Amino acid sequence: SLSENLYQIPLLARFYGTDASLQKEDSTTNGFKGHDMLAPFTAGWQSTDVHPLVIEKSEGSYVYDINGKKYLDSLSGLWCTALGGSEPRLVAAATAQLNTLPFYHSFWNRTTKPSLDLAKELLEMFTASKMAKVFFTNSGSEANDTQVKLVWYYNNALGRPNKKKFIARQKSYHGSTLIAASLSGLPALHQKFDLPAPFVLHTDCPHYWRYAHPGETEEEYSTRLAKNLEDLILKEGPETIAAFIAEPVMGAGGVIPPPATYFEKVQAVVKKYDILFIADEVICAFGRLGTMFGCDKYSIKPDLVSFAKALSSAYMPIGAILVSPEVSEVIHSQSNTLGSFSHGFTYSGHPVSCAVAIEALKIYKERNIVEQVNKIAPKFQDGVKAFSDSPIIGEIRGTGLILGTEFADNKSPNEPFPPEWGIGAYFGAQCEKHGMLVRVSGDNIMMSPPFIMSPAEVDELISKYGKALKATEERVK
Ligand code: PLP
Repeated sequence: SLSENLYQIPLLARFYGTDASLQKEDSTTNGFKGHDMLAPFTAGWQSTDVHPLVIEKSEGSYVYDINGKKYLDSLSGLWCTALGGSEPRLVAAATAQLNTLPFYHSFWNRTTKPSLDLAKELLEMFTASKMAKVFFTNSGSEANDTQVKLVWYYNNALGRPNKKKFIARQKSYHGSTLIAASLSGLPALHQKFDLPAPFVLHTDCPHYWRYAHPGETEEEYSTRLAKNLEDLILKEGPETIAAFIAEPVMGAGGVIPPPATYFEKVQAVVKKYDILFIADEVICAFGRLGTMFGCDKYSIKPDLVSFAKALSSAYMPIGAILVSPEVSEVIHSQSNTLGSFSHGFTYSGHPVSCAVAIEALKIYKERNIVEQVNKIAPKFQDGVKAFSDSPIIGEIRGTGLILGTEFADNKSPNEPFPPEWGIGAYFGAQCEKHGMLVRVSGDNIMMSPPFIMSPAEVDELISKYGKALKATEERVK
């Protein structure tokens, strides 16, 4: 079993590369009281964030901290810097737009050319189902909040005031604003926030390794999940269910690709009861899964789609939603009676964000980004999955350039390590020590490298993963 101090290991991760000038001293706690930021998804000041890792510079697949230490960024920032950290064309696009028109809005039938051009481009690129309109936001959370308001407006327009509930999945992540956090199926996003909102229901997380019955095939498991979804819809009353939202591959919940035939079966149920299908492509879109969109990979024909992250390779904040002709037609034709679709943000369609996104999409096309991803993905997937035999790994799963590792005892989904052992945190700290950043969530490790990673960088990633794993195995022994 583990030595007792393993739990303290996350603290060690910050014992190098710490700049005391960024910390605040507090006499009442006889030491540091953290820094001035209330940081997102960060524990209290007594934890690792007393010594934040301060990133100062990025270059290709690497980032550097304020002490000059170099890290391979295996998560692309937060699953988003698809073109890496130093793409000059994105900088040039932003600069040119800043010099011409740094800002104008898109309210009241006024707008800017970059937002119109980007909308046109997105509609042309997305071919999984026909889409008619694009609405711009600043983030993935705002995109998903917008989805809910749009669907409610749509059902009000159709005279279906009771068709308002949303079905999402356990372990999904759809963002952290009130509604996006409600849609998300992660308990931490609900606890102490009085969430989820009552109109949100959660159905099964489609994780075969964890939840399949003994002897059940992936296809049988998918059939069971679709049946559970249908039972939920019937129990609630189909006339009350407005939409179903799903990530093609679940990201922050631990990287969970769908089991075989899952989306085919779930879509059939949703369609049967006149429920809209929303694809949350915030992580999957623009090549990450080895197809331009997650919907292409799993033959999803959504009514609505959410984008963010790789849309601008994260160089500027931007999100977008695609709206089907059927939904947008109802909204347009009814808005004279219902009042205009009074929803939007000052920065919806921000010209600089749109200019950067247009350039990012151009680069994806010119460089054949899907081909590029498919060139390095097998090396990445096979290289990391080669560690699956490790006695402390339960499952390594992923596709394209997204991968999750889940630690478990005896390779069993039912035998997690005690949380206080901090296995995931220890592994993450070891990666950091060896110069690589991963995402840690409990005993789940997540990676989604930039699309531009070279084969040599993939080798480096695998080697660093191996070193961190070896150290973690030794601690568990
Ligand atoms: N949807 C998915 C699938 C995500 O992974 C995320 C962020 O990780 C979001 C929505 C929220 O996006 P944002 O953080 O830009 O609000």
